[in-house]
Amino acid sequence: MRQITVAKKTQSVGIGLHKGEPIEITLEPLEANSGIVFYRSDVGMSIKAAPSSVVNTSNATVIGDGQNYISTIEHLLSAIYSYGIDNILITLNGAEVPVMDGSGASFCMMLDEAGKRELDINKSVLIITREVEVVDGKKFVRVKPSKKPSYNFEIDFPHPIIGKQDYQFRFSKRGYIEEISRARTFGFLKDVQYLQSRGLALGGSLDNAIVLDDKKILNPGGLRFKDEFVKHKILDAIGDLALLGAPLLADYESFAGSHNLNHLLTKEILKDPNNYEVRDFAMVKELELSEVFA
Ligand SMILES: [Zn+2]
Repeated sequence: MRQITVAKKTQSVGIGLHKGEPIEITLEPLEANSGIVFYRSDVGMSIKAAPSSVVNTSNATVIGDGQNYISTIEHLLSAIYSYGIDNILITLNGAEVPVMDGSGASFCMMLDEAGKRELDINKSVLIITREVEVVDGKKFVRVKPSKKPSYNFEIDFPHPIIGKQDYQFRFSKRGYIEEISRARTFGFLKDVQYLQSRGLALGGSLDNAIVLDDKKILNPGGLRFKDEFVKHKILDAIGDLALLGAPLLADYESFAGSHNLNHLLTKEILKDPNNYEVRDFAMVKELELSEVFA
């Protein structure tokens, strides 16, 4: 299987979560071995999506060069990864990826519109060869060797609507579109009010997140899935691990994982070459991956 880029340029516009202002996003083809590259046209910053580019993980995954940054890259990366795209240029005229509806669905639509183009260099796969984990009290994120990629997540929130949820996702592009891509981010009204009092999350509304008070969901339309919360955590994990830069062959497992733990996991994996192996896609044919990442 060959490396993939998008077939043509596609553009959209949406609100940035933090500043609440409209931001234009453009997706364009890139040549083989370029990877996923972000460009901020307002300040002229070009930066590659990689664990070494991450500068903050407290509310979203943020990359930067020490001077300028781009926030909330994870939902877009999640969709790009799931569509099997290796090389793409993402241009933004502001400091964040637009939040759209708080899920990956709008980015899937953009990628459907852009189409795919094969490049003349083979795709690589990052194969996890031994267990790697990051633990923080009861919380953990972990990858284990596997013949087919999967993401297994469990959360336990002391909230009557969320509570304990777990979901096991056998990764495929089709499965991603149907089960994961539409799951929205969520937040608690008191946190949103606190952030907005500090001039943050100004674009946050019921149009781009599930918002809960102490007892109930405030969105008039309710949930898209009964386990939308845990499915969104899987959407985030796929996006955060996409920073590794290649399709990942592993079982990912987490209890109460976060952007921060996912980021630490990517660094932990890359720290020791005994943890993984990068192989030509053609060499792992026996694992029947082509339909998974096609
Ligand atoms: Zn998210």
